[in-house]
Amino acid sequence: MTYQPSPWQQALAQGFNDIESLCKHLQITPDSLTLPADYKNFPLRVPRGFVDCMEVGNPHDPLLRQVLPIADELREYPGYSHDPVGDLAAVAAPGVIQKYHGRVLLIMTGACAIHCRYCFRRNFPYSELQLSSQKIQQAIAYISADPTISEVILSGGDPLLLNDAKLGDLLQQLAGIEHLKRLRIHSRLPVVLPARVTPTLLTHLTAIGKQVVLVIHANHPNELSEQVGIACAGLKQHGITLLNQSVLLQGVNDDAETLVKLSEQLFALGILPYYLHLLDKASGVGHFEVVEERALEFVQHLQQTLPGYLVPKLVREQAGAAYKMPVFRW
Ligand SMILES: *Cc1c(COP(=O)(O)O)cnc(C)c1O
Ligand code: SF4
Repeated sequence: MTYQPSPWQQALAQGFNDIESLCKHLQITPDSLTLPADYKNFPLRVPRGFVDCMEVGNPHDPLLRQVLPIADELREYPGYSHDPVGDLAAVAAPGVIQKYHGRVLLIMTGACAIHCRYCFRRNFPYSELQLSSQKIQQAIAYISADPTISEVILSGGDPLLLNDAKLGDLLQQLAGIEHLKRLRIHSRLPVVLPARVTPTLLTHLTAIGKQVVLVIHANHPNELSEQVGIACAGLKQHGITLLNQSVLLQGVNDDAETLVKLSEQLFALGILPYYLHLLDKASGVGHFEVVEERALEFVQHLQQTLPGYLVPKLVREQAGAAYKMPVFRW
């Protein structure tokens, strides 16, 4: 039997991966000077469905800004480094990162469907890494041996880029670990490639027999298309808890009304806002920073405008800390 890519894999393959064709499609002029010399280490990558949510002819579109490499990435900012969150120091077993009590991150793949320019993972060597089956066994053994681990978080990269067979296999193994209460998945795919939410995926997620939490990642209300809504409805119908995390980004969502709208539209799709992250200070992303003082003003506006459950927690990742540090003003 020949291998047949599924429709979501075909959609993934049809995404944009060069600046020129994306700019042509959006009818904007690429400024050749905007291209960072080393951008091939983390090239442009964006699915068509996400591009469809951008405004044609608008070079400042907030979704475009998240994916278009620009010369600002070459600027150096004090305090920005290659591993700002201390992940490299927290590797407990192959693919296992343990920083917080009771929870481990399991990283099966470093690949993503979209390359977000602000992401700290842009500097990691593992962008196309896939855990071998032997390494997966070591990771499972590590989790099985530690009864204090009650939650496994599939992260990456994007864990939903694994094909159904691999993911199903992994979930089955996790299902067998009795002390695991919950499975959590951190994925941007329901937003940037909603076709990934297939009936097979839903079946795999329900079959695990544990509570499943899916934390999606949307930064701007324009990302929440009708297709995203359909994918989320399927997930909800299968009893999966949906949360969202965003990163506060200059030129994307650093605006009180945008953040209010994001929370409202998330909830309309059955998703609760979870975290609003201050930017991780990775080399090449300084131009996205929103200073803490402004971030706190946005949160105050959200608090004055929305019910408490629609106000995300403003947090900062601090290497070595026991949890994500809340940022607040008395
Ligand atoms: C963010 C993160 C988690 C999850 O933290 P929560 O506060 O439970 O969402 C777990 N492990 C690592 C390494 C993380 O970076
Ligand atoms: S890990 Fe998340 S934020 Fe980073 S590039 Fe992948 S999808 Fe984007």
